[in-house]
Amino acid sequence: HPAALPISSGVDRVPAPPEHAVHTRDGAHSVAAAVANDELRLRYQPIVRIKDRAVVAVEALVRWQHPTLGLLTPDRFFHAAHQSGHMPLLDQWVLQHACEDMIELRGSLKGAAPIRVNVNISVPTLTTDLTELVTTTLKRTGLPARRLRLELNEGADLDTLTRAGPHLETLTHSGIEVALDDMGAGATDLRYLSHLAPRDIKIDKLFVAGMLISPRDHAIVTLLTDLARRLRLRVAAEGVETAEQLAALARIGVSYAQGYHLAPPLTLTDLTSTLSKGHSS
Ligand code: C2E
Ligand code: MG
Ligand code: MG
Ligand code: MG
Repeated sequence: HPAALPISSGVDRVPAPPEHAVHTRDGAHSVAAAVANDELRLRYQPIVRIKDRAVVAVEALVRWQHPTLGLLTPDRFFHAAHQSGHMPLLDQWVLQHACEDMIELRGSLKGAAPIRVNVNISVPTLTTDLTELVTTTLKRTGLPARRLRLELNEGADLDTLTRAGPHLETLTHSGIEVALDDMGAGATDLRYLSHLAPRDIKIDKLFVAGMLISPRDHAIVTLLTDLARRLRLRVAAEGVETAEQLAALARIGVSYAQGYHLAPPLTLTDLTSTLSKGHSS
């Protein structure tokens, strides 16, 4: 086994490299090269209001159309992107293209389906000038602030949260929303709730997967939903794979859901035809 590389900043938690991770010893396979060669792709997974199945938002999910390895999901290349310091570059690329795609979608649907796009923001990007990045991207693309939501989904230390807080507050005032991703698992902990002003929490798919089998997981979903209600936050569940899970979530009081049972991550073309068939509100 190769020795673990030291984590440079100590700020972000670098995801562990899975067995099948793309190794990037030379720049040829780096995320920077993927950007330069126009090999990144976006998929959009609908987020649905449970009570009427209306699509209220989509989450942008990045893929790498690798020249020899095929279409790669983030678990194949995020480790290398963190190690090489390319996550801000990747997040910028995603933000820019997600905003452009939403403008294109709005054009195709002739103004119907006023949905938000959720863009994941990694910890290294939280220490950059987020206000500048987001406001210039919105200006450049023409997407209104009320059509964008930022998902924070990795552990940041207190220093990073303190630095990012004012940026997120400024952005929130302009109409952008912040969602806390992977609640209850991973590294999104309760400090995010006390230091930032999120509008939504997304319950991690781990608990959704277990909730019908494990009373403990069911209790955790209930707890997070109650917590969200007390804090006046909206709550969404991720990883909904069955009708039974969806029904159980509705009983608990979860309002929004995302998962293969509702829709997989879609190309912009497939999203456009799904929304034009009247699934939107
Ligand atoms: P996430 O933000 O929690 O995104 C949800 C993940 O769950 C996605 O995996 C999605 O494809 C997957 N998923 C959706 N429905 C289901 C389901 O019903 N069951 C199961 N088991 N999984 C489902 P994906 O696309 O592989 O992304 C993995 C993670 O990589 C994301 O987790 C997010 O943390 C990160 N990520 C993805 N795209 C981006 C991006 O553009 N920028 C950044 N910074 N991170 C991203
Ligand atoms: Mg997410
Ligand atoms: Mg995640
Ligand atoms: Mg998640």
